[in-house]
Amino acid sequence: MHRGYPVIEVGRDRLDGQTFAYRRYIGEPPKGYVITASCSLKPCLRPEHLVVREQRPLAMEDRRGARNPMARLTTETVLEIRRWRAGGATIRAIAARFETSPGNVSDICLRRTWTDVA
Ligand SMILES: [Zn+2]
Repeated sequence: MHRGYPVIEVGRDRLDGQTFAYRRYIGEPPKGYVITASCSLKPCLRPEHLVVREQRPLAMEDRRGARNPMARLTTETVLEIRRWRAGGATIRAIAARFETSPGNVSDICLRRTWTDVA
């Protein structure tokens, strides 16, 4: 049913639907950020589900919490993972999005790891 991101034409700009909805309901997204839905549904346009995310690729920085070789997470990513979880995204969806293991995501969300990150 849902093939992917809705695309809306605005003049000559092709915007993805989530960016369009964010602009319409919330405002201009900060430069260098992209809009995604916290519920992880690609076509979701509910304003309360729209979240901004940094556009740059996920950093590969190794920090505390990175004892697990799969962990290549930054403080920012950890905060983002917790925000997604709070927004109702599933552990599995978050793990896929951040290219880490579900166990890792679960530990982060339950604050078993990265306990120093608010
Ligand atoms: Zn949604």
